[in-house]
Amino acid sequence: MRLVLLGAPGAGKGTQAALLKERDGCVHVSTGDIFRQNLKDATPLGLEAKQYMDKGALVPDEVVMKMVSSRLLEPDAMEGFLLDGFPRTVPQAEFLERFLREHGTKLDAVLLFSIDDEILVQRLSNRRTCRSCGGIFNLLTMEGKGTSCPSCGGELFQRDDDNEAVIRNRLKVFHEQTEPLVAWYRERGLLREVDASDAPSAIYERVKAAL
Ligand code: AMP
Repeated sequence: MRLVLLGAPGAGKGTQAALLKERDGCVHVSTGDIFRQNLKDATPLGLEAKQYMDKGALVPDEVVMKMVSSRLLEPDAMEGFLLDGFPRTVPQAEFLERFLREHGTKLDAVLLFSIDDEILVQRLSNRRTCRSCGGIFNLLTMEGKGTSCPSCGGELFQRDDDNEAVIRNRLKVFHEQTEPLVAWYRERGLLREVDASDAPSAIYERVKAAL
């Protein structure tokens, strides 16, 4: 399967990607995760991305496109992929369409995770990630004190860009630059909309039904 997971930050794309990956074995390509890994490794790409990520702005298209094309050319992505956080602009979507065409393939579907902004602000400011297994949790719904991972016991941390001012800017950027992709993919007959306002297990049932 070749899927794009589209939706505002915090809509649950990463969580659903993990569930779909377990089911289908597709590679999960999260551009945000690749930038964060580069930042951790202090690579030039990571340091360049940081200046945008800290503000909740988008990294320039050319930088992201180059990174995604080299990732999609790796052998494990040949059979299928779940793109999470890419494309985020119309030029990125045009690039992806062209890139896949040149490689004799195309997307199967684009899943749009729809959800109200205020729920997202709540969700993101309470989001915690596990440093060991990468699991994503919410302080409001998880058991325990929220300092250790319920799955593996690893340390939980809050992403630097999950504070309210940056979250609001990320949502603004989403509405201005990414939302036009909804009409773009709808015109191409690829869009499948999923209500993303419930618990991950309920959303996953909708995702399976939409596919
Ligand atoms: P995410 O984890 O998907 O919310 O991404 C975190 C940050 O990485 C975003 O706020 C952007 O600064 C950057 N980023 C991730 N994907 C893209 C993309 N496709 N285009 C531009 N910037 C991106």
